Amino acid sequence: MGKRDWSWAILGVIALGIRYLATFNPEATDDIYSRKFFPVIRNVIDRTLGYLPFPSVYFFILTVFLVLGFYLYKLRSKEGWKRKLKYSLRALANGLGALIFFFLFLWGYNYQRTPIFQQLGLNPNPLTLEELKEEVFITQKLAQQYRLAITNDTTAITEILTYPELEKIVRSNMGENLDMLGLNFTGRPRTKLFPPPGFMRKMGILGIYFPFTGESYIDPTLHALEQPFTVAHEMAHSYGVTNEGEANFIAWVICGNSEDPLLKYSAQLRLLMYQIRDYFRMDPEDYKIFLKNLDRGVRNDMISIRDASEAIQPFSYEISRKSNDIFLKSQGVKAGVNSYQQLPMLAHAWRIKMKGE
Ligand SMILES: [Zn+2]
Repeated sequence: MGKRDWSWAILGVIALGIRYLATFNPEATDDIYSRKFFPVIRNVIDRTLGYLPFPSVYFFILTVFLVLGFYLYKLRSKEGWKRKLKYSLRALANGLGALIFFFLFLWGYNYQRTPIFQQLGLNPNPLTLEELKEEVFITQKLAQQYRLAITNDTTAITEILTYPELEKIVRSNMGENLDMLGLNFTGRPRTKLFPPPGFMRKMGILGIYFPFTGESYIDPTLHALEQPFTVAHEMAHSYGVTNEGEANFIAWVICGNSEDPLLKYSAQLRLLMYQIRDYFRMDPEDYKIFLKNLDRGVRNDMISIRDASEAIQPFSYEISRKSNDIFLKSQGVKAGVNSYQQLPMLAHAWRIKMKGE
């Protein structure tokens, strides 16, 4: 960077300008960015950083520190507080500009594409109690059936295949089933384990797609039965799906249509856990009876998942919830964290659609 160089700040502003235009043109954004430009980024990242055996985010952190070091070094050579201030402001503007630019170009414009459920013609509506009960009935039947295909033992399942195997299986299922959702499979997106164990969960997240390195991470301490679904959820983000509800929905469809009973079970179990949250809220008495009659194995698994999740508490529920909410809202997702609850509605709409065809 030269003496009066504002390049990164300017690039950031241009990127925001394009984002502004994209807001009014979701179809063009989907067509040009999500389906043509982004797949190139997907492949370049997957064929380079994707092969690293450790999270590439370490490179990102290293780069941030190097840039900071360079800034401090330069700052020392400036004389007088006015010069120092001017230099600092410019450095800050350039730093922010670079972050915005890379975020948007590497992934962020996907926020402006046509929502996937709109592309699929799905109409997610809040469920009535009757509809919810029907849905719960279907989901628990499927969960029970898939669990039996894994084991006859009703003790909670706490161990599955090794992580590299799981990642491979989920990815290959993505490849086989993504076209059903109108998305193309390309590249070889990675979802890596992010050490140290428990760190991400303490931050209040189970998994995250990191646009700057183009790969996603999950916490190694995540319950075995939650892993298949969560990896699929993160991989959905790797395909340019930004909305949390949609990523959940895609994970549910992909895992649910898998040949692998473990993936199928993980998907129905997650949906069931979302559904019964609403069930409990809408009809607590009925919910108790339902719980009593629930398959032993499925119930033990749900208890085991709940215990595992309670064993590691985030530093601050409020902060992690709020920051996530603010992040989502700043991206134009008006419902904020509520969009996470879309899965039961989307699953219901999908089941109706599948029945109709
Ligand atoms: Zn997500």
